[in-house]
Amino acid sequence: MDRETVRAKWLEFFESFGYVAEIQRVGDNFPEERSLRVLFGDVDHFDPDFALYVLEYPDQAIFDAGKAAVLDTLLPEQREKVEAYTSDLNIHITNLPENRYVDIALLHHDHVDRLISTTGIVKKIKNPEPFITEATFRCKKCGNLIKEPQSTLTETIKEPSKCYKEQRGCGKPLGMTAFDLVVRLSKVVDRQIIEVQSYGEKKEKTERKKIRAVLWDDLVDSVLVGDIIRINGILRIMPKKRGKEKMNRFDMLIDVLSVESENEQETKQGL
Ligand SMILES: [Zn+2]
Repeated sequence: MDRETVRAKWLEFFESFGYVAEIQRVGDNFPEERSLRVLFGDVDHFDPDFALYVLEYPDQAIFDAGKAAVLDTLLPEQREKVEAYTSDLNIHITNLPENRYVDIALLHHDHVDRLISTTGIVKKIKNPEPFITEATFRCKKCGNLIKEPQSTLTETIKEPSKCYKEQRGCGKPLGMTAFDLVVRLSKVVDRQIIEVQSYGEKKEKTERKKIRAVLWDDLVDSVLVGDIIRINGILRIMPKKRGKEKMNRFDMLIDVLSVESENEQETKQGL
């Protein structure tokens, strides 16, 4: 599916499943409220093929076309407010189907870049830190401001390869000019790394595997050590590093889209 088809699907979905009013309500409360909660079951009822696309290609479906469709649905003054703010309006997909559930110990490269759901007990919570998702640079030759989207998977900042003419720049490549980062004009959101361990009294100690997960923006500080949670998110891999060298082995982590509490459910099941 191309971007425009996916965007049109979202718009049709928002119309037919009552999300327009909800999006505009969040738009009214933005930036105090910054996330739209979408029940996966609604998307599935709307169009099972589209729902499958969302599960298989969440980066295109949610972060790209989905966010664009949310912006389209906002009232003009709300859209202006969201676009001028440092963080985006997030889409939190919740209640994934059981067939997307994967035990932490069984997560592997087949799941990379797909939407999955897993449960575990929170073992560690790191301090939140600001993270640049879209950097704004000033060209040292012409003074123009250039935007460069940043990968959420790398620790280093990506500079523009040139002073892009499409962004009204002078066209000089990096080397012929240099760029200064302008933090004040960049999109910055908080992120927090947590460590989650598979859970269940029946599990042997050796079966208890851990994984790191990244909470973004308003999900930061939403869990406590000891909480039993269900995480819905996208599995990522990052090359392990030895000093500055990237190695051919990978670390896995989950880019979290939503968190659901499992505490109550676990108690009911008497685990
Ligand atoms: Zn320039």
